[in-house]
Amino acid sequence: MSFKIPLFDLNFDHKEEDAVIETLRSKWISTGPKSALFEEKFAELLGAKYAVSLANCTVALHLAFKLCDLKSGDEVICPSLTFVATCNAILYTGATPVFADVESFERPVICPKDIKSKISPKTKAIVVMHYAGFACDMDEIMKLAEENNLFVIEDACHAPNSEYNGKKLGTIGHVGCFSFFSNKNLSTGEGGMLVTNSEAFYERTKLLRSHGMTTLSYERSKGHSTGYDVIDLGYNYRMDDIRASIGLVQLQKFENDLIQRAKVREWYEQELENIPQIIVPFKNHKEFVSNYIMPIVIEGVNVEKRDAIRKNLADNGIQTSMHYPAVHRFSIYADFYTHLPNTDDMVNQMITLPMYARLSNDDVKFICEKLSAAFYK
Ligand SMILES: *Cc1c(COP(=O)(O)O)cnc(C)c1O
Repeated sequence: MSFKIPLFDLNFDHKEEDAVIETLRSKWISTGPKSALFEEKFAELLGAKYAVSLANCTVALHLAFKLCDLKSGDEVICPSLTFVATCNAILYTGATPVFADVESFERPVICPKDIKSKISPKTKAIVVMHYAGFACDMDEIMKLAEENNLFVIEDACHAPNSEYNGKKLGTIGHVGCFSFFSNKNLSTGEGGMLVTNSEAFYERTKLLRSHGMTTLSYERSKGHSTGYDVIDLGYNYRMDDIRASIGLVQLQKFENDLIQRAKVREWYEQELENIPQIIVPFKNHKEFVSNYIMPIVIEGVNVEKRDAIRKNLADNGIQTSMHYPAVHRFSIYADFYTHLPNTDDMVNQMITLPMYARLSNDDVKFICEKLSAAFYK
């Protein structure tokens, strides 16, 4: 089925095609100059010291937790209202995820109070996820981390260029992880970036992404070195130059794209005023936000009614989604289950509406009219 208004629309044109062709013709298609330039521009955009391009964000999260030297028996406090990769990456290291609840419907991000209550002598790190691009309470979370000597990893997949007290999200904790999966704000098909201000973390990330080898093929091809040693147990987690060249074009469009998304968000906030039962999380937020998704919560609705509303919207050609099924309720997380009342309510009552730069004010009006009709039906 194809939707009249999809959930997301890729912002691609001939510029991405031209960039790919140029890279193909350069005959250097794996990690090389385009990846290096993409890293440089991305770090510059965020005001971070270092950025390392990677195959996707899942491996960025894995490396972030490796940098914290997590091992079996260690605990990491994490959200459940996130994409499963945030938590899977904890399990990769053998550490234990300890789920914390979200603050509220108005702020569905990890709750500092709940984090505090879950810190134990085994806690090594906190991973936060800036839902829809809106910041977690980083002041409180960094304070807790400092008091307890913990690492803070930011899953900033939703939040490229989002701001918090004038800083960019992903640069406040010890490591920030970003995704360039096709439906993200900045798309390369698959792709990711690890951002840090720590030189030691940067150097180790570069080793770990490429088998723990001391040089890259590109450096050897340029005659910069002739051999290599292997000094750490690494992986092949590299991004290639074909994707990096798409990323470079996307970066040029990115800031305008986000400005447009912010307008779409404003239109939604205006239109949704008409349905009092709808809570728009982070309403009237003041700082700049990436608006990766447009979540709403329909207060008091049950799952059947929520799903009927989604079905009704789909029948009108409007694609919706649900971000996310709670991670603590997945089968493989049964051993780590804990009661998270706010997360459970959010998951049952939320809908994600279409969000992309090219949505018009009329589109938003149409979506909200159909939503209202479905709600009162
Ligand atoms: C997309 C996403 C990921 C995974 O990113 P990939 O690049 O697909 O591995 C992780 N966490 C969150 C919050 C995401 O939205």
